Amino acid sequence: MRLTEKLSPKAQSIAEVFRCFVTFFLIAGLLLICATKMTDSRLTFAILLLTGWLSWTFTEYALHRFWMHNFFRYGKSNLYDIHMEHHKHPKDMKVNGYHRLLTFSVSVIILSVAIYLNNYFTLFAGFCLGFSFYSFLHYLLHQPWSRYIMPNLQKAHIHHHGKYPDKGFSFSVILWDWLFDTLPPKEAEISDKMLSFYFKNGSQSHQKKK
Ligand SMILES: [Zn+2]
Ligand SMILES: [Zn+2]
Ligand SMILES: [Zn+2]
Repeated sequence: MRLTEKLSPKAQSIAEVFRCFVTFFLIAGLLLICATKMTDSRLTFAILLLTGWLSWTFTEYALHRFWMHNFFRYGKSNLYDIHMEHHKHPKDMKVNGYHRLLTFSVSVIILSVAIYLNNYFTLFAGFCLGFSFYSFLHYLLHQPWSRYIMPNLQKAHIHHHGKYPDKGFSFSVILWDWLFDTLPPKEAEISDKMLSFYFKNGSQSHQKKK
């Protein structure tokens, strides 16, 4: 039995957010200590970049789980509405190819600056790269062929759009879902109906003009 089971639902929610953040800061902290212990500056750079990227993936997880899904049920937020629209029309995305290319180009510039500076700025570069990868990855997760590249993430995301909106919050790595028990149940199956809903084009699924 979990310690938090005796708490009120609201206290449980707070405890859960706390648990996630503490776990993340422990992991990031350990990585940072490792980075400072490296004798080779290229290794330090790589670990800092990785830590920055992981920080993004945790941010993505936390934002999606705690904010976009209205974890605390505080009225309605704009982001929640936009996100629920995406849940109803999986292929509709507010971000397009141009946005993706732009964020990618900007993060490549930031990465070049990080290589030049070779200091803690690398953390920020990793975070930005993570953000730009995420915008590509979410797009990829909605393409049928991506099951060959990232089958687990895609499965979790299909379930997230289906019967398990409270599971599968990751876009970039399955790590946080796995660590925080938000993987969809192993035995949950994906029906053809779910697949056709998930891969259906936005223009076919509703008439609203974009
Ligand atoms: Zn729509
Ligand atoms: Zn999606
Ligand atoms: Zn969602």
